[in-house]
Amino acid sequence: MRPRTFGLAVSLFLACACTRTTSSDTAPTAADAKKFIDDVNATTLKLATEASQAGWVAETYITGDTSALNARANQRFIDTLARYAKDAVRFDHTDVPPDLRRSLDLLKVALVMATPSDPREGEELTSIAANLDAAYGKGKWCEDPKKPESCLDINQITEIMRVSRDEKKLRQVWEGWHTISPSMRKDYARFVDLSNKGAKELGFPDTGAMWRSKYDMPADAFTKELDRLWDQVRPLYLKLHAYVRMKLREKYGDVVPANGPIPAHLLGNIWAQDWTNVYPLVAPKNSDPGYDLTAILKNRKLTPVDMVKTGERFYTSLGFSPLPQTFWERSMLVKPRDRDVVCHASAWDVDNVEDLRIKMCIEPTDEDFRTIHHELGHNFYQRSYKDLPMLFRDSANDGFHEAIGDTIALSVTPEYLVKIGMIEKAPDSSRDIGLLMQRALEKIAFLPFGLLIDQWRWKVFSGEVKPDDYNKSWWDLRLKYQGVAPVAARSEEFFDPGAKYHVPGNVPYTRYFLADILQFQFHRALSQTAGCTSMLHRCSIYQSADAGKKLNDMLSMGLSQPWPEALTKIAGTKQMDASAILDYFKPLDTWLDEQIKGKPVGW
Ligand SMILES: [Zn+2]
Repeated sequence: MRPRTFGLAVSLFLACACTRTTSSDTAPTAADAKKFIDDVNATTLKLATEASQAGWVAETYITGDTSALNARANQRFIDTLARYAKDAVRFDHTDVPPDLRRSLDLLKVALVMATPSDPREGEELTSIAANLDAAYGKGKWCEDPKKPESCLDINQITEIMRVSRDEKKLRQVWEGWHTISPSMRKDYARFVDLSNKGAKELGFPDTGAMWRSKYDMPADAFTKELDRLWDQVRPLYLKLHAYVRMKLREKYGDVVPANGPIPAHLLGNIWAQDWTNVYPLVAPKNSDPGYDLTAILKNRKLTPVDMVKTGERFYTSLGFSPLPQTFWERSMLVKPRDRDVVCHASAWDVDNVEDLRIKMCIEPTDEDFRTIHHELGHNFYQRSYKDLPMLFRDSANDGFHEAIGDTIALSVTPEYLVKIGMIEKAPDSSRDIGLLMQRALEKIAFLPFGLLIDQWRWKVFSGEVKPDDYNKSWWDLRLKYQGVAPVAARSEEFFDPGAKYHVPGNVPYTRYFLADILQFQFHRALSQTAGCTSMLHRCSIYQSADAGKKLNDMLSMGLSQPWPEALTKIAGTKQMDASAILDYFKPLDTWLDEQIKGKPVGW
C-alpha cells in the first residue's frame, strides 16, 4: 500500500468550511486558468511534501507529538486542496486547452468528501466524519463488559478468525465485532446527506457520482464496465465457492448448507473478503511445491537489506535505474527495538520527486519477499512520473498503483527463484494446484467483495437505498455477489456495513476490485512481450528489457492522460479485460470442474 498523504489521492475527510471566493464581474480567461493551475501545482507539491515528512516521522516514531504534527500537516494540505477544488468551479465555462481542463477536473475530484459551503454544515460534516472514523478505530467487543481484559480489538478478532476452527466461537466473535457499528447508523445517514450537499456544489449529482467521475467515462458507463468485468470472472468464482462450501460442509456439517450461501463467519476472515486462512481445510492433495522459501531465506541468513537488494535487481533487470542512495539511508526496513512504529508495509515518495522509501518490518519469509517486490513497484511508479506537474503525479486511475506492485509480485515464480539462485529446480507443474488455490482464495474470493462495498455506497449516496434499508440492502448485495449470508437474520437494529473500516473511514473501495483485475491483464500482456510461452502462472518478466520498456512507457504517463491511454501502452487495448484471470487460473479451473462434478453450484 501507499501512505495516505501521498500525492493528491487523499483518502482523508476534509475539514474546512470553505466559502467560495468572490467572483469578479469579468469571465475568467484561459490565462487565468493557467495561472491558477500553476499555483495549485506549486502549492500542493509543497504541502504534500510537508505532509509526507510529518507522516513518515509519525509512523516511524509514534508519539503524541508526532501524531499531532502529522494531523496538522495533513489538515493544512486537505484544507488547501478543498479550497482549490471549489475555486476550480470558476473555470467550468472557460475555454481552455485539454491538459488544463484535465487538471481542473482532477482537482475537483481529488478529495473523497466535499464539504458544503455553509460553515455550520461544513463543520458538522467534518466532525461527523471524524467521529465515524474514531468510532471504528476505538471499536472493541467485550465478552464480559465488566472485564476489560475480555475486550477484543480488530487485530485480536482477525487473529481468532484466522486460526479458530470452533464454529460456535467464530460465530460469537463475528457477532461480537458487529456490535461496534449500530451506533454509527444515525451519523452515517447524516454524513450521506451533508457530503452529498458538498458534492452538488461541485457540480455532481451526489457523492457516489463524484467518486465514479474519476474514471474518465460517464458514471453510468463505468458502472456497466464493472458489471461486465464481474460477469467475466463470475463463473470461476462460482466454482471456487462451490468447492470451498463443500469442504467447509465436510468440516462443519449442516451449519454449511449443501446448496445455499456460505455462513459469513466460516471463511477465515471477519468480512469473508480473503479466504486464504481456510487453505488447510480445502488444500488439494499432493500439492506441496517441494520447496519452502521461508526456510531458504532463513538458512541463508538473508538480511532485510539483502532481500530488498534482490527486489531492486528485479527492476534493474527490466531496465530501470537503481534506487537512489537516499533510499538505503532513509528507509525503515527493520522493526526498531526502542520505539513504536507502524509496521504495515508502505512505499513513500517523500518529496514527490526522488526521495523514495519503504517502511516495513521485514522478516525472512516468503510473504515479505513477495511484499518487497510489491512495494518497490510503487516506488518505481512514483519515480517514473516525477517530471509531470504535481496534479499528474499519480497512477492512471486509483486501481493502477496497487495493480503494478501486484503485477510484479506475480512474477515471483519458481522459475524466477531458480534464476536468482534461491532454489535449484522449479517443481513440475503437477504441483501447481496448491499454489493456484492459495492465490485464488486471496484474489478470486476478493473480487465480489471488492465490488459490492461501493455498489452499496453508490446506492446509499444516490438515495436509492434509504436509511431504513441500510442493513437489508447490504446483505442483499453480499448474497447476490459473494453468496455469503449471516447465520441469523440481521435486522435494521444492526448497521453491518459500519463494521468494515472503509465505510466509516469513507475510503472508496472500487480501486481494489480494479487492481485485482488489472494486475492479471498487465501480467499477461507483459509476459507475452517478454516472450514467455509457458503457462501464465509460471511466467516471470524478470530480465525482459522489452517488458520493462512497455512498463516504463505506461508508468511515466502518470495521471496525465485518461487511463485507457495508459492501459494501451501495456495491453494494446483501451478496455479492461478480466479474461487474463481465467487464463492464469486455467489449471485450477479444470481441477475444480473435476472436484465439483455432480455437486451443486451457486446458491
Ligand atoms: Zn500497495
